[in-house]
Amino acid sequence: MPRIIIRCPTSGQDVPTGHRSQDFELQTMVETRSFRCPVCQQVHAWSGADARVEQGPTPMAPLAQPALPR
Ligand SMILES: [Zn+2]
Repeated sequence: MPRIIIRCPTSGQDVPTGHRSQDFELQTMVETRSFRCPVCQQVHAWSGADARVEQGPTPMAPLAQPALPR
């Protein structure tokens, strides 16, 4: 199942919440959940409206991450 990611309000990066879901489940996820952000180490609260599901077979790379060598 794809990972649920949110935009970290501190760093602005997309971070995985540790939950996995499908799009249709995300729409019904109305209660607020909390998780410890792997980027800034703070606890963020999020709900389905804030989150989105990671797309594609490869993980989304943060913008700061250098390109893979060819
Ligand atoms: Zn964060």
